[in-house]
Amino acid sequence: MSTEVAARARAFLESEVHPRERAFLARPFRDLLPELQQLRDEVKKRGLWAPHLPREHGGLGLPLGDFAVVSAALGESPFGHYLFNCQAPDVGNQELLLAHGTPAQRERWFVPLARGEIRSCFAMTEPEFAGSNPVWMETRAVRDGDAYVITGHKWFTSSADGAAFTIVMAVTDPDAAPHRRASQIIVPMDAPGLTLVRNIPVMGEAGSDYASHAELRFDGVRVPAANLLGAEGEGFALAQERLGPGRIHHCMRWIGICERAFRLMVARAATRELAPGEPLGRQQAVQHWIAESRAEIDAARLLVLDVAERIEREGARAARDGISLIKFHVAGVLQRVLDRAIQVHGALGMTDETPLAYWYRHERGARIYDGPDEVHKSAVARRILEAAGMARAASEGAR
Ligand SMILES: Cc1cc2nc3c(=O)[nH]c(=O)nc-3n(C[C@H](O)[C@H](O)[C@H](O)COP(=O)(O)OP(=O)(O)OC[C@H]3O[C@@H](n4cnc5c(N)ncnc54)[C@H](O)[C@@H]3O)c2cc1C
Repeated sequence: MSTEVAARARAFLESEVHPRERAFLARPFRDLLPELQQLRDEVKKRGLWAPHLPREHGGLGLPLGDFAVVSAALGESPFGHYLFNCQAPDVGNQELLLAHGTPAQRERWFVPLARGEIRSCFAMTEPEFAGSNPVWMETRAVRDGDAYVITGHKWFTSSADGAAFTIVMAVTDPDAAPHRRASQIIVPMDAPGLTLVRNIPVMGEAGSDYASHAELRFDGVRVPAANLLGAEGEGFALAQERLGPGRIHHCMRWIGICERAFRLMVARAATRELAPGEPLGRQQAVQHWIAESRAEIDAARLLVLDVAERIEREGARAARDGISLIKFHVAGVLQRVLDRAIQVHGALGMTDETPLAYWYRHERGARIYDGPDEVHKSAVARRILEAAGMARAASEGAR
């Protein structure tokens, strides 16, 4: 089932999207919305919409491991996930609302999200505090009668521009244990007191609409207490739950990017001549990049699919070491493969004639978001060492 869906998704991208990517990437995302909507309608018509969502919500009902295979196919275009309505951060918010939303929350926010009528974002990171320590933040939500009043400062809220709502992480009980202090609350983006300060320029591009990362200020934003997602104090636990499958989604999208970069690298090496009859691919250095990339991509794919299967079988907690391993490992493979593909293209690789430079700019963050490399490496290594008898550090208790 998943390979058939992946093949149909890839065929759609090849015929309808790849030929338009260069022109699309040269324009602001907001200006593309009418054309992207037509393509989204076509995805729906072909019965490929929202492969990760249950059938009763208009999706294909693919389990995580099957969706991972489709996600890799979609990753081959910078627009793939968006066109199929399985783009981050909406996919994580859809999963959260489905699992923990009240019937009223699901009706108001999940249903239009699943239909692709609205978008959403997730506001957790704050400029003043290390995002690597997810329990350390200042944004407060104070209960006042039937409402929460939220005050705080967030940044790198991806896709906030044009979103209908954000799920904000805010401290509801500063005196609780660190992992019980914060809660997740749904805030409409047009709530009085919520300001989108700016889209933050990333590697020279501020972007717009879905393709942007915003700085947000919450100045006494008042929302009904019924907007609390899950229970008070569950914010951290919900964030962890959201990130498990989320890392599979990201990793498989990166593998899709690697596959496309690999194809471009091979095609260029086979056809670019250094002298008449002397293709670039005859150079041993280039041959090694091709072989190393092939091995790294194939190994990364198997590792991610193995972890996806373990999440399905035993849950995200049991699979947490594997989730950390794929997060830093695949982000590294992505960076190396993109770098080699650009090198093989020479000056052309630096231009926007291919999607390589776009990905190089926008996917550098892969080694930072959803936990920087170093945090994942230390977490896995610590558990391995503790299993071997190393004592737990006293400071670990607070984190
Ligand atoms: C493209 C992009 C999109 C994002 N989207 C969102 C979003 O939608 N919503 C949201 O809330 N946030 C988002 N973020 C923010 C992201 O989650 C944070 O950047 C991340 O958690 C790291 O936090 P920080 O930037 O504060 O870095 P810091 O915590 O200040 O860390 C800086 C560096 O220190 C090093 N470091 C940190 N901890 C350790 C350690 N334990 N051991 C060794 N070295 C360490 C790492 O190299 C790290 O990169 C996004 C970020 C990017 C780049």
